[in-house]
Amino acid sequence: MTVLDECLSPHVARIQRDHVRLEWRTPYPVLARARVVAWTCFCRATVYELCESAGQAFIRRTIQRDRRHEVHESSIRPINEARAIWTGLLSGRAR
Ligand SMILES: [Zn+2]
Repeated sequence: MTVLDECLSPHVARIQRDHVRLEWRTPYPVLARARVVAWTCFCRATVYELCESAGQAFIRRTIQRDRRHEVHESSIRPINEARAIWTGLLSGRAR
């Protein structure tokens, strides 16, 4: 995969063989107002966003499709735990 010069946001690294499998589930409407504090590049079909709200955080995964986007979210965790998962996601240690 090529990285375009225009890309300003990070891309997730190639997944590692012993990666942690995250649990992805249907979004909770109650967290719709969470603040997006980090995101991966939109040039890829799958975009990840780190969302924070009231001391907690989760990761939103959007698969961009032609007709309709598919959105899932990770479980809600304390911000520092969610940031550690985010780092793992970017580096290919979690997905
Ligand atoms: Zn990109």
